Amino acid sequence: MNLHSRGQEGQVVWFTGLSGAGKTTLVSALEGKLLEEGRKVQILDGDLVRENLSKGLGFSKEDRDTNVRRIGFVAGLLAQHGVTVLVSAISPYRDTRDEVLAGYPRKLEVFVDASLETVTRRDVKGLYLKAIAGEIAHFTGVSDPYEAPLSPDLHLRTDRSSVSECVSKLLGALGVREAVGA
Ligand code: ADP
Repeated sequence: MNLHSRGQEGQVVWFTGLSGAGKTTLVSALEGKLLEEGRKVQILDGDLVRENLSKGLGFSKEDRDTNVRRIGFVAGLLAQHGVTVLVSAISPYRDTRDEVLAGYPRKLEVFVDASLETVTRRDVKGLYLKAIAGEIAHFTGVSDPYEAPLSPDLHLRTDRSSVSECVSKLLGALGVREAVGA
């Protein structure tokens, strides 16, 4: 994939982590702040991509990797047009994440980290208890692997920090100064 910069290259901000770790929450809060800054922003949500661009794919390593590469391809195209792309996808395999991220001139890998105990307690989509009961096969963190980044650009512990603390760290990493009192 040739993703050489043409003018004002946008940044790909790639959020990886378990289901329920907080990717969607943080991406949506961050989107609002970046829009206020006048940036062009596009969220690529793993679940939405699966319903559209990746319809029919399953949860084998091969299918998960295909999904991540498709998201990565679209993210790269958008970034070439100056868009800040916020990718929210479990993207469980380190090698595939690294491969996709290596293609971007400007990127930030964000590890959205919460313990399995925390995400099970949150059970945002009601899936962990089913997965633990064996009713869902290939469920990341329970019956399928999750390979955490070894050196993410940002490591957010959502079981220890509030949403606003995490968003502040994200804005700092993106070089956005927060308004006083925001
Ligand atoms: P994901 O998109 O990773 O599956 P969600 O964002 O849908 O996860 O769910 C995360 C849940 O955790 C939400 O209910 C959110 O309110 C809660 N939460 C608590 N603390 C945080 C935090 N610091 N960052 C993000 N989410 C948090």
